[in-house]
Amino acid sequence: MNISSWKRIVIKVGSALIAPKQNGCSSRYLLGIAQFIVRCKSMGIEVVLVSSGSVAAGSHLFDDKKEVNMAMKKAMAAAGQMEMMATWDKLFDFPTAQILVTHGDLRDRERYVSIKETILALLKNDILPVLNENDTVTTDKLKVGDNDNLSAMIAAAADADTLIICSDVDGLYDSNPHENPDAKLIAKVNHIDASIFSMAGGASSAVGTGGMKTKVQAAQKAVAHGIDTFLINGFTEQSFNALISGKNPGTHFPSSQQPMKEHLHWMTHTSTAQGEVVVDNGFNAGLEDDSDQLTSDEIVEVNGDFSVGDTILVRKDDGTRLAKAKSNYSSCLLSFIAEQDDKSFASKLQNTTGPIISENNIAVLEEK
Ligand code: GLU
Repeated sequence: MNISSWKRIVIKVGSALIAPKQNGCSSRYLLGIAQFIVRCKSMGIEVVLVSSGSVAAGSHLFDDKKEVNMAMKKAMAAAGQMEMMATWDKLFDFPTAQILVTHGDLRDRERYVSIKETILALLKNDILPVLNENDTVTTDKLKVGDNDNLSAMIAAAADADTLIICSDVDGLYDSNPHENPDAKLIAKVNHIDASIFSMAGGASSAVGTGGMKTKVQAAQKAVAHGIDTFLINGFTEQSFNALISGKNPGTHFPSSQQPMKEHLHWMTHTSTAQGEVVVDNGFNAGLEDDSDQLTSDEIVEVNGDFSVGDTILVRKDDGTRLAKAKSNYSSCLLSFIAEQDDKSFASKLQNTTGPIISENNIAVLEEK
């Protein structure tokens, strides 16, 4: 790795580092991270921070913690977010700015672009953007749910070249290091596949939401966008010192040599399909090829309620997921033309209104 090539990085810091005892914020571990941020900035590297910890930081303000329901968790986040931001702000002699987002914001292309523009404007003015999920307004349908995946989406939106995810262990191990003393640290993961996910197991943090699995998911999203990703131990200053001296202290997920185009990456990894178009099992997913445009003949079924411009999933009748795409038709019109027995009517309509999916708006899915 070569830190001198870094231009813009995203650092994700989890709840356990912010509020290790769930008794308000502590700067114990944040000092080392803040120092790293300052050193990066002094080297001309732009830094974006994704910080969890609002719930963990706010929980000590609530007396009755026997039954923490959703409303109480949201209230903890509302109160803790202030404390968390104040703690970060005190550690720097440059200004910080808070950006709270939900998945509902990120999957809406206009709001996504607006978030991107805000981050870039803050960086240009030497203000540290600090992002978190807006836990107080999310619902199950609207949330990302963990800040690991959020940090990868933000790294993509911010056009970062590097993502650093701070964990409570040194990196990805071949088995759970909390349970197996012989677990081996994996220094480099060139390709993320099912075997890598099987090493990640389930959630492991007692304080935050994510575990190793969400960190690997985040790495997968980031590398596909051409973002070099490091999973490091955020509890030790040695990790940050190693990064500064160009060494990998944990697990390095090198960025893809053929990153996806920005809007296709957004469609695949950030946007949610609003509906699906089920196509013939015989349909070949050479969707990227102009000669193989999807026509109404191939459509078996249209599910969900989507509008023109929404992201849809294209899948085969047998369940195989072929692609995510931007639909040029609403679900209503698409169902109508797919149901027509008179195929010449459908093709005439398509000739006037254009293709169902434009060739540059299709992201063929690697993992079906
Ligand atoms: N947004 C949550 C919080 O600030 C944390 C989510 C996570 O732990 O990944 O408490």
